[in-house]
Amino acid sequence: MANFETVVVNTDLLIVGGGMSACGAAVEASYWAKKHGLKVTLVDKAAMDRSGAVAMGLSAINLYIGQAAGDNTVEDYVRYVRQDLMGVTREDLVYSIARHVDSTVHLFEKWGLPIWKDKDGKYVHEGRWQIMINGESYKIIVAEAAKNSINSLGDKGEIYERVFIVEPLLDGDRCVGAVGFSVRENKFYVFKAKAVLVGMGGAVHVFRPRSTGEGLGRSWYPPFNTGSSTYFTLKAGAEMTCQEVRFIPVRFKDAYGPVGAWFLLFKSVATNAFGEDYMKTHPDVLEQYAPYGMTKPIPANLRNHLGLIDERAGLGPIYMQTAEAIQRLSEEMPDEKQRKKKLKELESEAWEDFLDMTISQALLWAATNTRPEEKPSEIAACEPYFIGSHSGASGAWVSGPEDIAPPEYQWGYTNMSTVKGLFCAGDASGASSHKFSSGSFTEGRIAGKSAIRFIVENNQEPSVDDAQVEALKERILKPLDLFEQFKGATTDPDVNPNYIRPKQFMFRLQKIMDEYAGGVSKSFTTNKHLLEKGMELLTMLKEDSEKLAAENLHELMRCWENVHRMWQAEAHIRSVMFREETRWPGYYIRADFPNMDQENWKCFVNCKWDPKTGEWEMCKRPIISIID
Ligand code: FAD
Repeated sequence: MANFETVVVNTDLLIVGGGMSACGAAVEASYWAKKHGLKVTLVDKAAMDRSGAVAMGLSAINLYIGQAAGDNTVEDYVRYVRQDLMGVTREDLVYSIARHVDSTVHLFEKWGLPIWKDKDGKYVHEGRWQIMINGESYKIIVAEAAKNSINSLGDKGEIYERVFIVEPLLDGDRCVGAVGFSVRENKFYVFKAKAVLVGMGGAVHVFRPRSTGEGLGRSWYPPFNTGSSTYFTLKAGAEMTCQEVRFIPVRFKDAYGPVGAWFLLFKSVATNAFGEDYMKTHPDVLEQYAPYGMTKPIPANLRNHLGLIDERAGLGPIYMQTAEAIQRLSEEMPDEKQRKKKLKELESEAWEDFLDMTISQALLWAATNTRPEEKPSEIAACEPYFIGSHSGASGAWVSGPEDIAPPEYQWGYTNMSTVKGLFCAGDASGASSHKFSSGSFTEGRIAGKSAIRFIVENNQEPSVDDAQVEALKERILKPLDLFEQFKGATTDPDVNPNYIRPKQFMFRLQKIMDEYAGGVSKSFTTNKHLLEKGMELLTMLKEDSEKLAAENLHELMRCWENVHRMWQAEAHIRSVMFREETRWPGYYIRADFPNMDQENWKCFVNCKWDPKTGEWEMCKRPIISIID
């Protein structure tokens, strides 16, 4: 076996992940840990300053209620999320995040995040719930606060960066830690904890991306999150929810630039190539999805669906009419001088929007001589992603807040999964979409506080079986051994009868998902037979995962990233197969069940993998409304 030092870290709370939810958990848990003399340890596979989905920065905070100013109510937000997810949402969780989110945003501002203000000192809104920020350094500011909080605990606070977490550690029915490896030095890490909080984000590159060649890594969702939250919670035996609810954003084509500022701030319209506004030309389709299709705002997936109908009918490209929007807004000005000034202002806002969060889109515009004030830009549906904190919903099934969750949604500490001591937040916790950056941080705070309470009330030392750890170490490092053993068998190390390298493995996974589970090349359409075939091929891929080989630490990470993606893929296929209807047609269509079926399928689809038997179980869970 490869020669790796084993480093054992003992802690009370272990936070895995260093993104928005983990930073929220770090801030809140450290506060409560200090009061109780407990230790908090955080582990991130990357450097917290630029890790996770917010790595590049953002141009807007998408969830702010404005309760104090009376702008909106928490109940309004729950209604909005329920409508956008076609009725499938845990209202207790959404409510709980929304009621606390404003205080999170105020903390961000206190820590130095520049939020746009109008002349009266009020936040500038992009849309009803979104506020504009100068967010290039958003993640650095949030990470600094999290690091300060943990560091304030002295020797009771530890941060490990560039350590990739692979597996949970279990003690009977309780999660008691995690194992992983450094991606910089030959060290195998064993974290023993009294509670574990998962915040390892969602998953990208499970489906074949539109980008090819040099652009392969270009996707809407930065490719750092690879299904680790799903893998970790599944392997611990936790019940999962909404694994079929993938997210497909519509974004500027090829560089995936954000459309929020265009649609919401500039009130731009998207049309097909013949100038028709697809939001207006398909009222019959919207009727099919009543009540959701008949209520404003039209859910994101239905908006996608309408554009895709035109694209499938050969009416593409689909365009964002940028020039028209800029022209219209500048014409609202009373005289020529102000019109010119406004035009310049809008142009610079358009570019800054990309420079804040998707620099590559600005580069693509520059490279293709695109002046948004002169010509429209193509938009397209991206490949599918798993991001339960955004407009998807996949994640673990977590216990709701005790003051508002109905008994069916409440079995333990808030945000604890169905496994004792295993807490989830952000993309890791399911059925509570539209948390976004501020809501994920908020949910991290809620889960962090709850996890500390769990430790205080269940303060048992974790018992970890050394043989279990040794076996895990051997399995996790095996790809390095395989490469060493067989690299000389062929002249080209990429082609070898004894192993498969992670990149090739990823291509196989993506091809299966694309062609059988309704990816881009199938226009997001699948059926039972395709899914069954996909499952058959995935089973073989799973067998081959035992033969993954890694030349170095970086590739070892790539190997495990792909194993994590593969499990995310399986949970997805099983859930899409189980739900016999089409509820989110702009995310996927079940061609064999093309309609929405409120009578049989207005419910959650949950799944579970049993660590003892290795069997999967699927079930329905009821949707219980707490808001009219
Ligand atoms: P993340 O913030 O993604 O953090 C995941 C963390 O887990 C990272 O630190 C990562 O390094 C770590 N990790 C992953 N795997 C492992 C592993 N195996 N071991 C150890 N660590 C691991 N929100 C807004 O408010 N406004 C916006 O405009 C907006 N735009 C967005 C645009 C894009 C392209 C995307 C993808 C998201 C956007 N969001 C926006 C949503 C927001 O970014 C997410 O809701 C939020 O980041 C989710 O928080 P999280 O903690 O669950 O995941």
